[in-house]
Amino acid sequence: KMNTDLGQHILKNPGVAKAIVDKANLKPTDHVLEVGPGTGNLTVLILAAAKRVTAVEMDPRMAAELTKRVQSNPADSKRLNILLGDVIKTELPPFDVCISNTPYQISSPLVFKLLALEKPPRSCVLMFQREFALRLFAKPGDKLYSRLSVNAQMWAKVSHVMKVGRNNFNPPPAVESNVVRLEPKVPRPQISYDEWDGLLRICFVRKNRTLRAAFLTTSVVLEMLSANYRVWCAQNDIVITDEEEPEEPVGEGEAMEVDGAAEEEEWGGIAEDGEDDELPDFFKEHQKAQTRQGNPNRKRKGKVAEIVREKVRKVLEDETELAEKRARLCDESDFLKLLYAFNKEGIHFN
Ligand code: SAM
Repeated sequence: KMNTDLGQHILKNPGVAKAIVDKANLKPTDHVLEVGPGTGNLTVLILAAAKRVTAVEMDPRMAAELTKRVQSNPADSKRLNILLGDVIKTELPPFDVCISNTPYQISSPLVFKLLALEKPPRSCVLMFQREFALRLFAKPGDKLYSRLSVNAQMWAKVSHVMKVGRNNFNPPPAVESNVVRLEPKVPRPQISYDEWDGLLRICFVRKNRTLRAAFLTTSVVLEMLSANYRVWCAQNDIVITDEEEPEEPVGEGEAMEVDGAAEEEEWGGIAEDGEDDELPDFFKEHQKAQTRQGNPNRKRKGKVAEIVREKVRKVLEDETELAEKRARLCDESDFLKLLYAFNKEGIHFN
């Protein structure tokens, strides 16, 4: 019995299973991470081509079945380590190649986890639902171009491997699938993963908005950048003077609420293709953190917000001239230019 809530769609076509493992170009010395081995149709082929396999499986029944399947071959079972649990929450050992017929619910977190690894693998051969796969390698201007595309392509070379029809699975999923290959760039780009992702989250809230709108008409964005700026100033011994600034008699969280309600409503809507419906939570968390910590610099708030707004304007209009460009048309070098210019002004995204 398959549990489709866990994305259990077993590959029933041995030709497809073989093609996936072939496309991983395994070396006999490789340590392979397999995500969601299920009953082991890929696992046995991987074991035949690699040195060692770590398989992370959430469903104990599947793990038991896999254990049983390899038991008859002691040489294989010695080289297979099954970790029971959610791969997203599991601490992963270093590995050379990742292979996965991915349970579709974890597509996005899995890609981000793989891309953020301290010691990235040589390559990842991953099966996804078609639309997700297309988003991974979409280019600026494509309908499915999104934060996922920019992020994936920043850290890895993304290539299409093959299409896999839904009838190759048992039970067949609702949509078609594609296999993609991610080859993390070597050396790893020397930018902070969190800074980069933080910038992209803001740009892609509405990918069809101009960057000016994304940064300058969204009070919660300016508020977050101001909070980060205060931290940065403190860390760099920069004193913000505010002699003329009147002390603001604001109550808990009040400053955040001025036009917060309107913003939230806008974010509450259904995200369009490839847009970030995750973002609202990200900002809400930030707001909560602000309220929890209280704000010792509250009386400097107005001044800092003013400074930050001017810095943001300067970066968008003067330094990069990207103010009128829309995220959906920006390429990697545009975002890099932005990040560099913002950081130079002391504006940070995490
Ligand atoms: N690899 C097998 C195949 O190709 O036939 C099974 C693939 S099936 C699409 C996905 C597998 O991932 C299922 O066995 C499911 O139990 C497991 N799974 C689902 N969510 C998971 C998670 N968060 N972490 C690890 N495994 C998970």
